Amino acid sequence: MMTDPESAPAPARAPTPTQGASSESPTGAKIIDGKVVSLKIRDQLAEEIKILKNSGVTPGLAAVLVGEDPASNTYVRAKAKACAAIGVYSDVIRLAADISQVELERKVRELNIRDDIDGILVQSPLPAGLNEFAINKLVDPAKDVDGFHPYNVGMLSIGEATFVPCTPVGIIKLLEHYSISTSGKEAVVVGRSNIVGKPIAALLASKCETGNATVTICHSRTRNLSEVCRKADILIAAIGSPGLIGRDYIKPGAVIIDVGINRVDDPSRKSGYRLIGDVKFDEACELASYITPVPGGVGPMTIAMLLSNTVKASRRRL
Ligand code: NAD
Repeated sequence: MMTDPESAPAPARAPTPTQGASSESPTGAKIIDGKVVSLKIRDQLAEEIKILKNSGVTPGLAAVLVGEDPASNTYVRAKAKACAAIGVYSDVIRLAADISQVELERKVRELNIRDDIDGILVQSPLPAGLNEFAINKLVDPAKDVDGFHPYNVGMLSIGEATFVPCTPVGIIKLLEHYSISTSGKEAVVVGRSNIVGKPIAALLASKCETGNATVTICHSRTRNLSEVCRKADILIAAIGSPGLIGRDYIKPGAVIIDVGINRVDDPSRKSGYRLIGDVKFDEACELASYITPVPGGVGPMTIAMLLSNTVKASRRRL
């Protein structure tokens, strides 16, 4: 039965986290701090990398950047910086936007056979005219640290996860860190992309301690979206629509994971913009038990999980 937020009782609190120290928003929801969790993961990885290096293995990540898209440029720079900070070797391969499909495929094949490269990521979106699926399919599945190769997608779907896309696995780590149980819960995922929506739905539905949820996937053709979202104990918003999820979409006590990163104009900032999520943060804080802020929630986890996947890929060299 649907819960009417107007008449519902006071928010049911999720269990107090045993590991995660979360601050509380002024209106009650606990903040899931992706910066803190991601730093902890990076520290653990740095320790593991020291041990790998003692065995003669330096994890290596190649990032392929095609064209001059400013956001992609920023992401790739951030990834390279994160690699350097924990001792992962990184190689950024910058290619002209007018590169042919054949030439790009040749570059990927070169990386597939390089011994010093354990992980390969091809920054999306690729410029128009290039076939992204064909490129994802060409990356060696054992070096596919983004988890986009059909082999790895298939392994996730049959419950034998190998490399899982970084943002969804980062969300699971956040829930785990704050001891937020998913088992038997109603989870609603808004968004069905291959990068976020579908893999997080697969993880939440999978038969394991960090899954076992009853999952509903919503998308642009979903009818009565707010009504469906109000059923969610765990609501994942991965839409790319600033502030779409407001008070009417939230069941009291729900855990809200806001994946959206949207630039909105803000003349008061030097940059002229600020980043906001898909969720109206202030409204959600009044109802939610836990919430991820934007920025500082899911975002930092994505890079941490990329590093984690790269270290995992490098272990096969031992
Ligand atoms: P996408 O554009 O590939 O997918 C968006 C999805 O939202 C689609 O499946 C679409 O059906 C659905 N949708 C669009 N409008 C809708 C509506 N009105 N009602 C219901 N569903 C609707 O986007 P994506 O790559 O999955 O990214 C989603 C958001 O997450 C973006 O803001 C992106 O920047 C952000 N993102 C953040 C991270 C991170 O690290 N935090 C990583 C990846 C993506």
